Amino acid sequence: MDFTIPSELKDLVESVRQFREKALMPVEHDFLINGKLDLDVRKSLENKAREQGFWALDVPEEFGGQGLGFLGKCLVTEELYKHPAMFEFGGSPESSMYYTNEEQKQRYFFPIIEGKRKSCYAFTEPDTGSDFARIRTVARRDGDNWVINGRKTFISHVDRADFVILYATTDPEAGSRGVTCFLVDKGTPGFELSRPIPTMGDDWEPYELTFNDCVVPDANRLGELGQGWEIANFQLTRGRAKIAACQLGVAQRCIDLAVEWAKQRVTWGKPIATRQAVQWMLADSEVELEAARMLVYRAAWMADEGLPIRNEAFAAKLYASEMAQRVTDRCLQIFGGLGYSREVPIQSFYRQVRVWRIGHGTSEIHRWMIARNMLGLSSRDA
Ligand SMILES: Cc1cc2nc3c(=O)[nH]c(=O)nc-3n(C[C@H](O)[C@H](O)[C@H](O)COP(=O)(O)OP(=O)(O)OC[C@H]3O[C@@H](n4cnc5c(N)ncnc54)[C@H](O)[C@@H]3O)c2cc1C
Repeated sequence: MDFTIPSELKDLVESVRQFREKALMPVEHDFLINGKLDLDVRKSLENKAREQGFWALDVPEEFGGQGLGFLGKCLVTEELYKHPAMFEFGGSPESSMYYTNEEQKQRYFFPIIEGKRKSCYAFTEPDTGSDFARIRTVARRDGDNWVINGRKTFISHVDRADFVILYATTDPEAGSRGVTCFLVDKGTPGFELSRPIPTMGDDWEPYELTFNDCVVPDANRLGELGQGWEIANFQLTRGRAKIAACQLGVAQRCIDLAVEWAKQRVTWGKPIATRQAVQWMLADSEVELEAARMLVYRAAWMADEGLPIRNEAFAAKLYASEMAQRVTDRCLQIFGGLGYSREVPIQSFYRQVRVWRIGHGTSEIHRWMIARNMLGLSSRDA
């Protein structure tokens, strides 16, 4: 593979690094102590970023974005995730929103790019997460409308969203082939945020949702009947590669901190950096980070070349999320007691990366899918 990072993307990453230093670092201490970023602070950071041109970076130019592509998105994400608030730039619709028709683009897609609306997505239910074919939230046709009943759980950022990209079955007998996608506005009668679910993450409280005879017009159906699995796959595949990029930023920041700390912390008259036990933790972390980086960049580059990346995204997220778990653990260990404290960001990263062995598909399901691909087995309905 002949692969280099284009110089304009390197320049972009440098300007994102400067944004991180100037705008995000000043709020790091408060974030670590309180475990959250105040909503007003988040909004003002978003505005500041937008003023500096960090907006709709990966959106194709034909839709009014900057057309930086998926590699650009991953590089920017890597840089931003060196901060534990895991702040992201706005104006980028979820990948599934590219399935909107012309009329839906006006109501949902362009308003996201313009910064007027936000979305979140809902697959998971109390009785099913990994197994898409078992989705039981049902959408029943009623003239020009759909009547939706069911429950969703662990839905992230619904509190900040204006609408939900909802996956429901329109044919309960058909397994994953019966799943259809809908755009459901918050405030639609029958749709409620039933309860927040406290988690071990910082500033991340997903919700349980209920749909009780919730009426949604057919005009809000995203894609064709039964196309939900394909749309979800497109979204999840891209999401997995991006999540893998997040792990690179987390791991790089923790390694940088651990290297500095190891050089200055003295025991028995010498910096701990001179001890082989500490050096090996650093070396293993560095090698694993670089290996993950190659998996992520390759997947992103392939996506920009228009190549399918389903398997590459599984591999990148599987390896990078497990890598980040090991690296944050080692770096916390190098810091000793201080690593466990809220004075340094490592404990926050350590807790937060845990979710990525679960969300967007668990490590076990990723391994299963990679093996199925190797064995030439169908990737649908086990
Ligand atoms: C903080 C957080 C945020 C989330 N945000 C969202 C969101 O915004 N939208 C959304 O839709 N969902 C969201 N989720 C849900 C997440 O995607 C699911 O938790 C995940 O897909 C796993 O599903 P599950 O929890 O039902 O686990 P299960 O599917 O019940 O799996 C339980 C365990 O069994 C293993 N397992 C299951 N089947 C197999 C198998 N066939 N072979 C081997 N092992 C297997 C799994 O790997 C796992 O270890 C979020 C979850 C968390 C924790």
